[in-house]
Amino acid sequence: PPDVEQLGRSSWTLLHAMTAAYPERPSLTQQMETKQFLGLFSKMYPCWVCADDFRTWMKDGNEPRVSNREDFGQWMCEAHNAVNVKLGKQSFDCKRWEERWRTGWKD
Ligand code: FAD
Repeated sequence: PPDVEQLGRSSWTLLHAMTAAYPERPSLTQQMETKQFLGLFSKMYPCWVCADDFRTWMKDGNEPRVSNREDFGQWMCEAHNAVNVKLGKQSFDCKRWEERWRTGWKD
């Protein structure tokens, strides 16, 4: 349904923007709170099959990597690509996540 797509686009915008704003040297508290956010987000995301699959993906050896902005941005890109693959969409080149979501394209 279209609201799952609209919700998805808006949510990815929020999630990638959070990685773009993440510190290069987060405190242990920030790292812990980020993991808590992702745990709760993946329970409350109001597309239940999406939420279940996201939780399963995280448990299957894809625990959030939140030690710095680069790792968190890469991890989020990988999470998004897992959904892209599931939906038969093109994978995104994760070397370019920061250009897309933080610094702007440098063409
Ligand atoms: P989106 O996938 O929403 O992407 C928006 C923009 O992000 C793209 O235009 C591109 O510029 C950029 N982008 C694309 N891939 C990446 C990447 N890997 N890293 C960084 N930037 C990228 N939909 C379902 O039908 N079933 C599901 O199970 C499902 N699970 C989801 C789980 C989560 C956690 C979220 C947030 C969304 C989920 N969705 C799911 C929604 C789905 O991922 C898309 O958001 C939706 O289909 C709209 O797709 P879109 O083609 O407009 O672009």
